[in-house]
Amino acid sequence: MDSHRSAELRRQIAEARRCRQCGSTYAQEHVYVLGCREALWAIALKCSACGAQAILFLNEPPPYTHELTPAEEQTFFNMPPIGRRDLYTIQSALNAVEDDISSLWQ
Ligand SMILES: [Zn+2]
Repeated sequence: MDSHRSAELRRQIAEARRCRQCGSTYAQEHVYVLGCREALWAIALKCSACGAQAILFLNEPPPYTHELTPAEEQTFFNMPPIGRRDLYTIQSALNAVEDDISSLWQ
């Protein structure tokens, strides 16, 4: 995993993303890069204001070749929150992994 790119993603996400529960920005130390496999990044977020957690899957190239425009920021902000079905899907996928989960991003 590219540590420089990882640090840059953490900074950009902390600046651009807002908690879907309370609208707070994320503290950079609460943006966790779980791993990267080819162009897919898995990132966990924890809101320091309300404790809500989220998981992001980002494909490169972009989305972070530039700062979000107001329209992009509004689009992301208006996306529906992660629901039980999403979490169940992720859990099922992770349960199917027999190796260390980090092997998904190597
Ligand atoms: Zn929050």
